[in-house]
Amino acid sequence: MRVIKEYIAPKNTGWATELIAGQFLRLTARTIIDFVAFDRNNFREAFDQAVTKEASNCIYLKEGHQMLSRSGKPLLKFIKDEFKGKGTHDLQFGMCGRARHKRAAEEGRLGEYLHGKDMKLPDHGCTENLTWALEPWGIPYENIPSPVNFFQNMQIDQDTGCMERTQTRPEIPVNLELLAECELLVGFSACPDMASQTRGLEVKATVFEI
Ligand SMILES: [Zn+2]
Repeated sequence: MRVIKEYIAPKNTGWATELIAGQFLRLTARTIIDFVAFDRNNFREAFDQAVTKEASNCIYLKEGHQMLSRSGKPLLKFIKDEFKGKGTHDLQFGMCGRARHKRAAEEGRLGEYLHGKDMKLPDHGCTENLTWALEPWGIPYENIPSPVNFFQNMQIDQDTGCMERTQTRPEIPVNLELLAECELLVGFSACPDMASQTRGLEVKATVFEI
């Protein structure tokens, strides 16, 4: 294994990097990671939650599944999931951020959103972290797709369709590994994870080749 790049994103910050086909990205964490990807040669080919779910016939991203673009191009393959058997990775939700925190406060739904009533809200979240991380590539917020929410373990009621955030997270940092299937730009946010007990932690990213 040859390490190409390593980066530690502190809690509630983001990072983006380019990958070439055949390279691996390892994310090591025990907190929610909002993760997106784009074809490096055509940023309009961005990761798409719905296309990805349709291809796998599954509402979670699981080991062995591919992350697909809007037109069905394979961007990444999820090859290793050390959270497997302990929890799932969400493909329903968007990103936390200033606007959502504000709306939750206005609607009096902070308990539902954040598992706590009188919590101090961060002044930014994954929306802002990903926007800032992808800015050097000229990608505006409107063009950032809804992400894979790694480690966001949801309870989804089959009959009502209601979704509930759980506090299930890895107890120690675990590895997720993704294989780049083409030239990519990938970005992620170390979520402030206001639903969790920890309220967010750092995320380590390692780009490597075998
Ligand atoms: Zn977030």
